[in-house]
Amino acid sequence: MKTKTHQADDGSRDAFLAKAAGLWPVAKGSLTLTRSPCTRKNCKECASGRKHPKLIFTFREGGRLRGLYVRPAQEKLLRLAIANGRELERLTAAAGRELVLALRKEAEA
Ligand SMILES: [Zn+2]
Repeated sequence: MKTKTHQADDGSRDAFLAKAAGLWPVAKGSLTLTRSPCTRKNCKECASGRKHPKLIFTFREGGRLRGLYVRPAQEKLLRLAIANGRELERLTAAAGRELVLALRKEAEA
C-alpha cells in the first residue's frame, strides 16, 4: 500500500498551513535608508550635507519597482514582515520540492 505525502494529502497541507499561520504580518520587498533635504530654510542638517534620514520600503508591483516611505516607529514591524515573507517563500519552495519528489515516488511505485 502506498502512502501519499504530497500536497493533496491533508497532513502535508495542515503542516504547511500551521507554519504559514504564524507568519504574519507578511511583506515582500526591502528597506533602504536614504538621506534627503527638507524644505526648511537655514536647516543645519541640510547645510552640513547630512540632510535627513528616510526609510523607504521598496517592492515590485506589476513588474514595476515602487517605493513608499516608512515611519521610524514602523521599521521594526516592517522588518518582521519582510523576514516572514522570506520564510513563507522558503516554505513554498520546499513544498514544491516535496510535491515533485512525492509524485515521482508514486509514479515509480
Ligand atoms: Zn533639513
